[in-house]
Amino acid sequence: MGRGNKSFSLIKCGSQAYLQSDLFKASGLVEHAFSTRSGGCSSGNLASLNMAFHTEDSVDNVLENRRRFFNLFKADYRQIVSAIQVHGTEIAVFDKNHKGEGALPHSATRSCDALVTTEPGLILSAYAADCQLLYFCALDRPLVALAHAGKQGALGRIGPQVVNYLQEQFQVKPDRLLVAMSPAVCWCCYQVGSGDAAAFRLAGWNGQPYLEPAAEDKFNLDLVAINLDQLLTAGVNHDNIAISELCTSCNPDLFYSYRRDRGITGRMIGFIVLKSEVTG
Ligand SMILES: [Zn+2]
Repeated sequence: MGRGNKSFSLIKCGSQAYLQSDLFKASGLVEHAFSTRSGGCSSGNLASLNMAFHTEDSVDNVLENRRRFFNLFKADYRQIVSAIQVHGTEIAVFDKNHKGEGALPHSATRSCDALVTTEPGLILSAYAADCQLLYFCALDRPLVALAHAGKQGALGRIGPQVVNYLQEQFQVKPDRLLVAMSPAVCWCCYQVGSGDAAAFRLAGWNGQPYLEPAAEDKFNLDLVAINLDQLLTAGVNHDNIAISELCTSCNPDLFYSYRRDRGITGRMIGFIVLKSEVTG
């Protein structure tokens, strides 16, 4: 089982650069991106385009970085929506009444790791530095979702949970979904301890390529392979899944990495928004 024939493109724009899924771009239904660390105003380990408040950065830096980034998309950084990410599997629906929640410090009100909306123009955002972001776009109706799928998310099957939720609540068939999987920490850069390994083994993820012994009491975990396998099992078509081949840890010039930088680091942002002029 391959990793999909569709990937992301790196788009350079002055001192900034971001990634976009070719598949999502070709759909014409959404605007979306995954940021890199270039072109911002933060310094040190946080240099330079840190997008999240829950770091050691100043609020002013984060706001300036978001302003610069969303300017590229002619979007207002003060109107973005984000949740309090808790490494769980809660899913919440957002509408225009939530506009701007999470745009300023302590303004996010809902704790969840998956955001859904049917509202054109509402910018869903999430943050990561090694965890994977999963972007969802329905083909037959205006609906997008964005999930934060790290180790705990994968263990809780957040990908399939979103797929099932969209089917049950919005009658979106899994084979009518596009999914894009952001850069994330690769299996060779990602070692977990025996406790985590036991939890994944218990959940059925054992052996190649998911979980393999490395050093003593250390195991390599392939987060990307697990997230992909879960989406395929949930009924998403392989041809409708785009996967970034880039590792956040292997590419220090492009990305922050929580593991590589031992926790003192910034965050990339992922966002997705339904285009307002979607005609179906
Ligand atoms: Zn790597």
